[in-house]
Amino acid sequence: MAALDKASIVAVIGSGAMGAGIAQVAAAAGHTVKLYDTRAEAVQKAIADIAKVYQKLVDKERMTAADAQAATARLQAADGLAGVAGAALVVEAIVENLDVKRSLFADLEGIVGDDCILATNTSSISVTAIAAKLRRPQRLVGMHFFNPVPLMALVEVISGLATDAAVAETVYDTSIAWGKNPVHAKSTPGFIVNRVARPYYAEGLRLLNEQAADAATIDAVMREAGGFRMGPFELMDLIGHDVNYSVTQSVFNAYYNDPRFTPSVIQQELVNAGFLGRKSGRGFFAYG
Ligand code: NAD
Repeated sequence: MAALDKASIVAVIGSGAMGAGIAQVAAAAGHTVKLYDTRAEAVQKAIADIAKVYQKLVDKERMTAADAQAATARLQAADGLAGVAGAALVVEAIVENLDVKRSLFADLEGIVGDDCILATNTSSISVTAIAAKLRRPQRLVGMHFFNPVPLMALVEVISGLATDAAVAETVYDTSIAWGKNPVHAKSTPGFIVNRVARPYYAEGLRLLNEQAADAATIDAVMREAGGFRMGPFELMDLIGHDVNYSVTQSVFNAYYNDPRFTPSVIQQELVNAGFLGRKSGRGFFAYG
């Protein structure tokens, strides 16, 4: 199998933190990218923000002005969900909720062509379950990017039980063409990274709950002594507490309420308060 042709249209559904990053990477790689979000203003903001990032890359001489202009022109707001009809690949990056994702993909099946690959950026939901209600579940695959997408090389290419191997291979090769470093994995709760990372957040939260140290101190220890790039609290603030709490619940539920994965009331309260981390200006820490 080969990567998607550059002339192929890529659609990105959801223009939040992840969708904007995916659109930035896909447009820079040469694709026309159709962006759709239920909040039209999110699409406009994503396109404006990406154009600014390209300009910064030009300033740093890591992109030519002509390439930045061409990539910006390839970013287009889709005219409603029906506006993604011509896409060869749709990457979904909406809310981390099985029913909402299933409903979106059911709608998409009525819009896109039979050969269009449907990819989900879910962090933790079973790819098998998302695909199960589709007429053609073999065309759905996980394409799991990491935050921030333009900087993080890893992409987990997740096959559900019904995923066609050729579809996974195309997404794998396309990830390479987009400058990423993909890995194939089967659909298990949390896949590889979010499974291994769960205890990092959970133990940090337990330490905080036990008042062993404050969040900034725990982060600093993990960065400076542990060698991690980010401590658990600043990382959760970056991911977004709504997203991270959903992932925790999803992995906990999928492993039959295994206490190792128990969500924390601290996470629940941050979500209740709307303190979602960087994106809302406040989480464990305040952002200006
Ligand atoms: P986000 O809240 O920043 O953005 C989600 C966007 O989706 C919002 O703009 C929202 O308006 C839109 N949306 C919601 N429902 C929609 C629908 N039915 N149709 C169209 N648009 C809809 O969230 P995010 O952090 O970008 O996460 C998106 C997905 O990516 C989730 O599945 C999440 O688990 C996954 N993910 C997140 C991270 C992370 O670090 N934040 C990392 C990897 C994967």
